Amino acid sequence: MDRSVDVVVIGAGITGLTTAFLLLEKGLSVLLIEKSDRIGGQLCTVSDEGFLFESGPNTGVVSNIEVVELFRKLSTDCTLEIARKESKVRLIWKKGKFHSLPGSLGEAVRTPLFTSYDKIRVLFEPFRKKGNDSLESIASMTRRRLGQSYLDYAVDPFISGIYAGDPDNLVTRFAMPKLYQLEENYGSFVRGAIKRHPILAQEKKQGISKEVFSVKGGFKNLVTALRNKITDDQMILSAGKIAVYPSGDGWTTEIPSTGEQIFSRQVISTVPAYALPLIFSFIDFEWMEPIASLRYAPVVQIGVGLKDASLVPQAFGGLIPSKEKEQLLGILFNSSCYADRAPEGGASLSFFAGGIKCAELLQLTDAELKELVVDALHRMLGYPAGTLPDKMHIFRHEWAIPQYGADSELRLKCITYLQKIYPGLILAGSIRDGIGLADRIKQATLIAQEVGDFMTKEGNETK
Ligand SMILES: Cc1cc2nc3c(=O)[nH]c(=O)nc-3n(C[C@H](O)[C@H](O)[C@H](O)COP(=O)(O)OP(=O)(O)OC[C@H]3O[C@@H](n4cnc5c(N)ncnc54)[C@H](O)[C@@H]3O)c2cc1C
Repeated sequence: MDRSVDVVVIGAGITGLTTAFLLLEKGLSVLLIEKSDRIGGQLCTVSDEGFLFESGPNTGVVSNIEVVELFRKLSTDCTLEIARKESKVRLIWKKGKFHSLPGSLGEAVRTPLFTSYDKIRVLFEPFRKKGNDSLESIASMTRRRLGQSYLDYAVDPFISGIYAGDPDNLVTRFAMPKLYQLEENYGSFVRGAIKRHPILAQEKKQGISKEVFSVKGGFKNLVTALRNKITDDQMILSAGKIAVYPSGDGWTTEIPSTGEQIFSRQVISTVPAYALPLIFSFIDFEWMEPIASLRYAPVVQIGVGLKDASLVPQAFGGLIPSKEKEQLLGILFNSSCYADRAPEGGASLSFFAGGIKCAELLQLTDAELKELVVDALHRMLGYPAGTLPDKMHIFRHEWAIPQYGADSELRLKCITYLQKIYPGLILAGSIRDGIGLADRIKQATLIAQEVGDFMTKEGNETK
């Protein structure tokens, strides 16, 4: 062996970087291995003459203590930026106009988004029978508890915004576990929300504000802050087609680009599902296929800079329900929520297209995507016809967001089984435990804790 470390972490996205940082903090020796020549994975910020654009995520949610603690630990190197209060305004496109999602009872009664029938029906949600299908889709659960118009004009666009997915194919238990738990534990969304109120108040005191966040200067600064905690010899970039297999009481990782063989007691993978078979070729097809076949929604994100922000809404963004048959999934008004995203008087926006329902839009040319943007600037935001973006950056993601469908049950079973029969192997990343940034940080923290505890216990027993 050329080198021996406690833990090899594969993939330097937010999950891998956070895992490596927290393991190093616990005093373990770590090697972080990345295929690409850059770190950050889906996190990537582009600056262009005062405009800031994200290629991947634009925001996270402070939804757990692990996010709060990570930013506390990195506070000298990067600053958590909570979105302005305008971010609480969410717009939904209906019949040629954006409407605010209701934020009060009065607005809920008046909104044109939902039918009068469903508005009355929703009053009886707390008394509706609990579902009994653990693989029920988000669409079916919403129809059953709230009604079709809530599915069409609240849940469908919300699911487009998070998963770029289809609520008929995403399973609530896997894709929206908190919503599933509300019905499971309290019998109703409304009753659950009321009963959980004291818990949420308690969480708020710990800093779990549930607010939307970014990082001052963009997510690249979070990546840099984590990078600063890892030394050059603890990381290999441009690693090539690595291969991992069990050897002795640990693991061997072969790195073609350096010709090295690394021995480690633990191997933690954070790579996407489709990359797993090549890395772990010793795993039987029968067990690997249900994991590797995880479906991803393709997404194209178009960063748009405007020198004149006057018509950009003071809101988080506008989502477009599938029922409206538009090509765009939605628009985020980033400079309305965060400082320094555009030069004085200007705006930085993100337009999204594609998703699981319109995957073919990823094939549009740059000129065709520009046409889409120009049309939306006029029709949706009210800019004069033909207004051109002052800046435009197109980011195509063929494998953007994993879709937690009914196949998740078997995928999770296979992951659990493989981790059991191959001690020291951890298959993580967004193949399980959630696709949001907060989910990724939480998973990394829990894994680092578990591995740290195990290695310390083992070390003590050896002594
Ligand atoms: C367009 C878009 C918008 C999004 N918007 C949001 C949002 O607003 N809010 C939110 O919370 N989340 C959002 N997400 C999701 C979020 O970005 C991801 O869940 C998160 O960044 C995934 O991090 P990760 O480290 O698990 O995976 P990744 O970032 O995919 O990192 C995996 C790493 O593994 C590396 N790798 C792959 N194969 C190999 C190999 N063979 N050997 C070594 N390394 C390998 C990759 O190069 C990559 O660096 C968005 C995602 C996209 C694409």
